[in-house]
Amino acid sequence: MKILKIDHLGIAVNSIADGRKFWTDVLGLPFEGEETVEAQKVTTAFFPVGESEVELLESTAPDGPVAKYIEKKGPGIQHVAFRVQDIENALEELKAAGVQLIDQTPRIGAGGAKIAFLHPKATNGVLVELCQRD
Ligand code: ZN
Repeated sequence: MKILKIDHLGIAVNSIADGRKFWTDVLGLPFEGEETVEAQKVTTAFFPVGESEVELLESTAPDGPVAKYIEKKGPGIQHVAFRVQDIENALEELKAAGVQLIDQTPRIGAGGAKIAFLHPKATNGVLVELCQRD
């Protein structure tokens, strides 16, 4: 598999409206707007940083994955996303290597990207997202 770069860092926040102040007002990062991904019960906001981005994640429902994450661990870095050239190929390679996956096939995330998560049990506790943007 070919990993191209760190695409973004996913950060769980209670509120994007509050959380974004640090990233925009203090660090001066541009705010690229919000997008709700209903299937994942999350609203995301992207802040470009050079070749990568910061992604803030706010849950839209108490039983969403981001709400559950905050309940267990508090707000903070929730996942690391690597951009890959070919996500289907990457998932096949990982399956062949016996790596535990959350998503067996890609789904569509914010910005229309193809995304898939690896299980933290397979990655020393880090929720890893693969993403492909065409
Ligand atoms: Zn992400």
